[in-house]
Amino acid sequence: MDIEDIEKHYERMSDDEIIRITTKDGRGLRPEVFGIIKKEIKKRNLNPDLLNGAIAQNKDYSIFELEQYANILRKLPCPICGKTKEQLNGTIAHTVKGFLFFAVSNTKTSIACPECLDNTNDNAVLSTFFLGWWDLPWGFIKTPVYIYRNIKAKKQNWLYTPNSTLLAFTEVNIGAIEIYKNDKEKLSEIIDTKKPSALRK
Ligand SMILES: [Zn+2]
Repeated sequence: MDIEDIEKHYERMSDDEIIRITTKDGRGLRPEVFGIIKKEIKKRNLNPDLLNGAIAQNKDYSIFELEQYANILRKLPCPICGKTKEQLNGTIAHTVKGFLFFAVSNTKTSIACPECLDNTNDNAVLSTFFLGWWDLPWGFIKTPVYIYRNIKAKKQNWLYTPNSTLLAFTEVNIGAIEIYKNDKEKLSEIIDTKKPSALRK
């Protein structure tokens, strides 16, 4: 597509599509597209910070820079218990559940305070321990592996620095974090992975 076609393409987009691209689906944009997006944002009277989200998604970050973004999220109240005593971090809960005719294996990211992250992993261990074996025929192999993954993940829950799960989450959602870095309510929505959100990947 040449630049004029791209321009027309963006003109035809709905406001929601512009917001979606600048917030989370704007990876791989050519630099000349930023000018077009800027024009559309102005024309439609959208939040001017949206442009920064599109740019943020197309930058390479050092670990130090990613940690700075992650630290914005760490100061928020825990989306599970609401407390602000401990800084937040991330974990992945690994579960296998087998039922009579079907089975589900699941890996789910949570951002929360260390205590709630531990609970999340403990619950995953418990349900996997009781139900994982019924995932036939692989439950006998998967169950101990998934339990081990939760135990391993727990070791990172109490780190004083952003852990690898939080950094990965931060990188994936960097557009929305950049746009809403001064908006606590929107940031809280981004990290609350139990609820669906249009702002999060
Ligand atoms: Zn908590």
